[in-house]
Amino acid sequence: MTVTASKKDPIAVEAEVREKIHLEILKRTGAYHSNDHVLLPSGHHTSEYIEKTLVTTEPSFTEGLGAVIAKHFAPWPVDVVLSTGPGALILSHCVARAHPSRPIVVYGTKGLVSGHRKVSLPVEFQRLIRPETRVLLIEDLVSTGSTVNLLVNLVEQIGAEVVGIGCLWRRTSVDLGGKPVFSLVSRDFPTYTPPDCPLCKKGVPLNEEFVRRRAHRRPSTIKAPKTP
Ligand SMILES: [Zn+2]
Repeated sequence: MTVTASKKDPIAVEAEVREKIHLEILKRTGAYHSNDHVLLPSGHHTSEYIEKTLVTTEPSFTEGLGAVIAKHFAPWPVDVVLSTGPGALILSHCVARAHPSRPIVVYGTKGLVSGHRKVSLPVEFQRLIRPETRVLLIEDLVSTGSTVNLLVNLVEQIGAEVVGIGCLWRRTSVDLGGKPVFSLVSRDFPTYTPPDCPLCKKGVPLNEEFVRRRAHRRPSTIKAPKTP
C-alpha cells in the first residue's frame, strides 16, 4: 500500500517521489510490469508483476540502488554484508562497495531439508562471522520474508548482530521480527480471485504469459561431454 502524501508533509512527498524513481528504474530493467492484468501461478489475478531474475541485470542501476541502501546504513558500522541467492549477492556487492565501513561480502546457500527451507554458511566463511560481528542483511525482493528470517536466525545463532535489513522491494505486510528495514520500494500487489477481479469486470484481456512460461519454458542448458 502506498501512502498518499499531502503537500503539508515534505518528507512523505520526498519518500513517494524516491519510490517512484526506483520503480521506474526497475521497470527499465524489464523486471516490473504494471497496468497489466496478470494471471498468477496461484490462479489469482493482479495488475502488477515483478520478475525477480531480471531485477539486477543492469549493473549501473544495481550500483546506484546499492549506493542508496549503503547511504541509509552509513551511520552504522558494518563488518559483513550477508545475502543468499544470485540477485541478492549482486546487490550486496554494490551495497558493500558503497558503505563507508568497507564491509566484506559473504553469502549463504539455500537448500531444502525434508521439505523445510534452509540457509547454510559455507565452511570457508564461518571464521568471518563471529560473536559480535555486525552484519547487514541484503535481499533483492522480500516477498514472504522466509529467506531473510532464516538469515537473521543464522547470524543470531552465531552470536553476531544484525544491524539491519536492506532490500530493493518489500511487501509491506511482511513481518521481519522488528529488525530495522530499509527498502527502496515498499509495495503490495493487490491480488484478486477471478470472480472478484475488477480487471475481469472491465473486460481487460488476461495476460497468461508468466504462468505459461513457468509451465512450458525450459532454461537453456549445455552439458559437458562424458570424460573417459
Ligand atoms: Zn482478472
